[in-house]
Amino acid sequence: MLVNLKEILKYAEDNKCAVGMFNATGFDSLQAIIKAAEKLNQPVILAHAEVHNVYNDISLVAPVMLSLAKNCKVPVCVHLDHGTTLEMIKRAINLGFTSIMIDASSLPFEENIKFTKQVVDMCHPKNISVEGEIGQLITSEDGVSNKTKSKEYYYTKPNEAKEFVEKTNVDALAIAFGTAHGFYKEKPVLDVNVIKEVKKVVNVPLVMHGGSGLSKEQFQDCIKAGIRKINYYSYMSKAGYEAAKKLIESNKTSYLHDVEFEAMKAMEKNVEEAIKIFSMKD
Ligand SMILES: [Zn+2]
Repeated sequence: MLVNLKEILKYAEDNKCAVGMFNATGFDSLQAIIKAAEKLNQPVILAHAEVHNVYNDISLVAPVMLSLAKNCKVPVCVHLDHGTTLEMIKRAINLGFTSIMIDASSLPFEENIKFTKQVVDMCHPKNISVEGEIGQLITSEDGVSNKTKSKEYYYTKPNEAKEFVEKTNVDALAIAFGTAHGFYKEKPVLDVNVIKEVKKVVNVPLVMHGGSGLSKEQFQDCIKAGIRKINYYSYMSKAGYEAAKKLIESNKTSYLHDVEFEAMKAMEKNVEEAIKIFSMKD
């Protein structure tokens, strides 16, 4: 069943859990995500990241994503992850996506508000949800151990979060409190108090980016503090990669479809484990 982000995050809020957002980069990951969600009977957010558009153009994947979502027995939101350009955002809207995440947090605060509000005004009349972001995510490229900038530089400030949500009318807010995209070079240190403080002053669900690589306890601490959407990708992809590598090295097959199928099964298992933790059922 196809739903928007606002609807799916209401489920998370009602159940005091988080819904996983998983990036799909091909047919194998799309199937892995849907199968895992159906098996566990949990809602899921199926995402296409703008940065992955080089692998599959959004016009090719959108009909497949939407068809999978509509035919799925659990609620599925079809989401654009890290939309940076109006061109890509407009394409996602016109193709039928039910949710858009705007990546404009690197812009000055007022410009982030202006850009996000512009997208909200385009999306809400079409019943499409919008996720905004404030605070700087410490990306792996920036280096988790980058000591040249203080925590205050990166982390979301509660007063700014409040102003941002009020002025933009977003449906969900991604915040920064120590997570990073990609693979962690060292054990991440999260400031769960940032989540708690933002939650006190903001009335929309909060989102964690860079969800791969945290411990079960870290995930659950974040959910208890108020995180309702967790973006997860790198370790799902790694699970597929490692299963494919193992099969190739075994010399048991020369067919690519065998490798793809093996990768799909491994990703499905990895997504299942993540959904169990996010839904607080593990
Ligand atoms: Zn992200």
